[in-house]
Amino acid sequence: MDSPKVGFVSLGCPKALVDSEQIITQLRAEGYETANSYSGADLVIVNTCGFIDAAVQESLDAIGEALHENGKVIVTGCLGAKKDAAGNDIIQSVHPKVLEVTGPHALTEVMSAVHRHLPKPHDPFLDLVPAQGIKLTPKHFAYLKISEGCNHRCSFCIIPSMRGDLVSRPIADVMLEAENLFKAGVKELLVISQDTSAYGVDVKFRTGFWNGKPVKTHMTQLVTALGEVAAQYGAWVRLHYVYPYPHVDDVIPLMADGKVLPYLDVPLQHAHPDVLKRMKRPANGEKNIERIQAWRRMCPDITIRSTFITGFPGETEQEFDYLLDFLKEAEIDRLGCFAYSPVEGASANELPNPVPEEVREERRARVMELQEGISRKRLQAKVGKSMRVLLDEVTASGGTARSAADAPEIDGVVYVKPPYEPGRKLKVGEFVDVRITAADAHDMWAEA
Ligand code: SF4
Repeated sequence: MDSPKVGFVSLGCPKALVDSEQIITQLRAEGYETANSYSGADLVIVNTCGFIDAAVQESLDAIGEALHENGKVIVTGCLGAKKDAAGNDIIQSVHPKVLEVTGPHALTEVMSAVHRHLPKPHDPFLDLVPAQGIKLTPKHFAYLKISEGCNHRCSFCIIPSMRGDLVSRPIADVMLEAENLFKAGVKELLVISQDTSAYGVDVKFRTGFWNGKPVKTHMTQLVTALGEVAAQYGAWVRLHYVYPYPHVDDVIPLMADGKVLPYLDVPLQHAHPDVLKRMKRPANGEKNIERIQAWRRMCPDITIRSTFITGFPGETEQEFDYLLDFLKEAEIDRLGCFAYSPVEGASANELPNPVPEEVREERRARVMELQEGISRKRLQAKVGKSMRVLLDEVTASGGTARSAADAPEIDGVVYVKPPYEPGRKLKVGEFVDVRITAADAHDMWAEA
């Protein structure tokens, strides 16, 4: 019996990617096969992104292409939860031939839709999938989503209206998934959520059990437990989307001790207290410069990654200068900067004194110019040092790897060049000890 084949188009952020992984895992568990072309698929699922206008358009185009090339299309993801100004479902308005639409994180609804339009086969032998599920990332790294949704209401963001309030996964489930991933050969686990520091708030930090021991549903205990399991497998754990609440200080010693990577992705978005208040950012009262300096004292090797927005409504020249001064002092290692882009449905659109687009862009360019010098200086300081890197790609002339300071997709890379030890062949997914020989503002070069 031929198994029904499902094509899958996955768009959006790592959180959407994890949703895709869970759907594909379930499909495979039930005996469906995945098709790598529209013509080879009996049905196509498109996982969409609805964050900014460009992402909405990309998602609508992808749905249109799937309808044209295949015809049977189910849509899931953030755009599925989005309405237009008249309150109509955006996807159904543009593409009325779509079979069904769900919002994000809707595994059960998506599977029900698949069962309706492509009934599942009854072959128990096809129900076998690896314990770690099906991953869309390379075999040596994986994202671990610890919660869904967000309790904050940042004025520029509509994620809570699409994904709902924070729902933390049980700690035992998270730990089991992490261990299965390490067993399957994952060498780097990237912890993601909308707000990693808030893990467990919704369940009042309920106590769960892992390996027969009580563990609280709390960021510090989770990171400690992940560090212990990672050590057994010689793997890395990297933390993303951490807001600078006081308890974050408790994970820095774990980084200093090498239990988890000395890397903290803290999306600050701005430095001026008035802008942060208008943004309604979590932890906006924290003295971030002092926190960053304290983290660096506790863990001198720590890499701080952050993102910032320029030209948020009402941002004055003086508030922007405050941001530049902050960046000069903080010397963030890895920085992303976006010119403010109004998102339909976000309350920030109602704020007075919007900043003209050319000013938003010009301020962004000034931030990036400043950051280029900071980044160059900080990477230059690593030249001559030895460090461990993880190989993502191997070619005849060397390899492309990442150090503890480089998350996949968003940070720089380390180009590893010969000479290697005699007879040594590099392999994707292996750790290599290298010496840094050169650096620019983004990447480094090294010898194995
Ligand atoms: S913390 Fe703010 S920006 Fe992040 S998901 Fe929640 S509301 Fe959106």
